[in-house]
Amino acid sequence: MHIVKTVESLCRSVKKIKSQNKTIGFVPTMGALHDGHCSLIRKSRRENDIVVISIFVNPSQFGPKEDFKAYPRPEKKDILLAKKEKVDIIFYPSEKVMYPTGFLTNVHVDEITDRLCGATRPGHFRGVTTVVGKLLNIVTPDALYLGQKDAQQVVVLKRMIADLNFPVAVKVCPIIREPDGLAMSSRNKYLTPRQREGATVLFKSLKDARKRALAGEYNAANILRRMRTAIRKHTPGKIDYIVCVDAHSLIPLKQLKGRVMVVLAVKFGQTRLIDNIIFYI
Ligand code: AMP
Repeated sequence: MHIVKTVESLCRSVKKIKSQNKTIGFVPTMGALHDGHCSLIRKSRRENDIVVISIFVNPSQFGPKEDFKAYPRPEKKDILLAKKEKVDIIFYPSEKVMYPTGFLTNVHVDEITDRLCGATRPGHFRGVTTVVGKLLNIVTPDALYLGQKDAQQVVVLKRMIADLNFPVAVKVCPIIREPDGLAMSSRNKYLTPRQREGATVLFKSLKDARKRALAGEYNAANILRRMRTAIRKHTPGKIDYIVCVDAHSLIPLKQLKGRVMVVLAVKFGQTRLIDNIIFYI
């Protein structure tokens, strides 16, 4: 496994790989790798000759009051795990490499970045699309692996890739959960035992919403009211949003129909957790 820290050196490796007609699967991450990341790496491993992952805690996708400084950076552990998962190349750039002096250009996707997480995290998706756009230009992968855990990120990145004609296939991987149902996240380790216990209500309430909808409750307001009550009753968490949306467009639904996604963000202290569930009506 190679650890590559500069764009030039990564481009040299990519050129060699392409000259051998090998395919590249790419998994962008912010590190603190867990089984969620590993599931993306494994799928990429199965489907490609070469697996490249990036580890970069991207400052431009964090708000000024968010956890950029505190975000976990267990470098040695991540490298060992990547090796175990048979990653071929880790692209591990510094901030200077990604945003050298004079950097002025950003990628912005309109409309769908204003709602849900975009409403409470202004500028977040601009940071994500800019960094992923750069990484796609540097790595030039055949396939990009993303987790359904970050549902809005998937929709936004697919839009960017289609609109700007990035020649890459997008593969979306299912949410990997802890045994008690909590979606795995690098941020779960911030939770106190009480918050961690309470956080299990998120997936429970999503499953309950799906069950009710599949049993014929198509009124979104009724479904959401029940979810809010359960979350408030069982946790100290503060609801940022819970919405039923069309899974393709992210447009809120009053009546459930088609490919429905129930998506939520709840804050436990300073820790903001997101989760979602998709079903067909
Ligand atoms: P992050 O390091 O949080 O930026 O995540 C990197 C990639 O891993 C993103 O595509 C995430 O959606 C994905 N990911 C993170 N957690 C999970 C999870 N629990 N299940 C599936 N994918 C995940």
